[in-house]
Amino acid sequence: MSAKIISGTKIAGQIREDLKKEISELKEKHGLIPGLVTILVGDDPASKIYVGQKEKACEKLEIYSRRIDLPPETTESALLSLIKELNKDAKIHGILVQLPLPKQIDQQRVIYAIDPSKDVDGFHPVNVGKMVVGEKSFLPCTPHGILELLVHSGIQTEGAEVVIVGRSNIVGKPLLNLMIQKRPAGNATVTICHTKTRDLSFHTKRADILIAAIGQPKAITRDMVKDGVVVIDVGVNRIGKTPEGKLILAGDVDFEGIKEKAAAITPVPGGVGPMTIVMLMKNTVEAAKMSL
Ligand code: NDP
Repeated sequence: MSAKIISGTKIAGQIREDLKKEISELKEKHGLIPGLVTILVGDDPASKIYVGQKEKACEKLEIYSRRIDLPPETTESALLSLIKELNKDAKIHGILVQLPLPKQIDQQRVIYAIDPSKDVDGFHPVNVGKMVVGEKSFLPCTPHGILELLVHSGIQTEGAEVVIVGRSNIVGKPLLNLMIQKRPAGNATVTICHTKTRDLSFHTKRADILIAAIGQPKAITRDMVKDGVVVIDVGVNRIGKTPEGKLILAGDVDFEGIKEKAAAITPVPGGVGPMTIVMLMKNTVEAAKMSL
């Protein structure tokens, strides 16, 4: 058996087409252009790439995009003042502060400072709380993207054993909350694993759907999954460069080994990554609509 490859690139493209229609309607009917500001503090190379990708995505959809690059020594109070201004800026509907932030800045304080109605990353506790109780809110982009991948691929989650490896606030924890809810791509029985899990393989082998958000290249190997598993690989690990200097990326699962055993699997790149970005665009459009 060779797994069906779940193309995030393709599914994100379909979602983008729907968004295009919504955006042109907003322009025509209300003269409104959704606006996103991305703030990058410092010069972390990976963060620069992510911010660049988000800018490009805005361009493609004709979303107004403003990029603010701040030096690595930026103080917390300077960043908080900037956010205060952006909270009041009518052209800006979404505020995204690229994480991680330099050590002198308290990440939580910055997230708290963003107006929840402009928190398109879905990290503000108001949005996290609403998500947990199942109220409408901005869902964090990567977990939301994963749910959409599952729905668009026709993968049944109801009653399924879902095992998530990784318990971060941006991937594992929100995904756990969403997949136990009575909603599309929900109604699953979810187990979450981390570094203190006693026997990781015991859990991963039970999974009907395995979601890896670990941050370690190829940590999940063929012997750790059962036949017919659906694998969603969130990991993005830089494992080297080609002779031409292009980055070589690997996911958290051993794609080559597992694809012969799995029913379906996401590639890296081209799986979860494009979905994360398109969900950010979706949240920005939602934020603009909420401003009407
Ligand atoms: P974090 O580093 O915040 O969390 C990693 C989690 O994995 C932790 O909960 C950690 O456990 C767990 N973990 C690490 N090693 C093991 C192990 N050997 N066995 C079991 N659990 C382990 O990472 P993120 O959630 O931010 O990101 C995870 C990966 O996903 C990264 O590669 C990141 O680049 C990628 N990513 C990709 C996105 C995309 O759009 N494609 C978006 C966001 C992230 P513990 O809590 O005990 O330390």
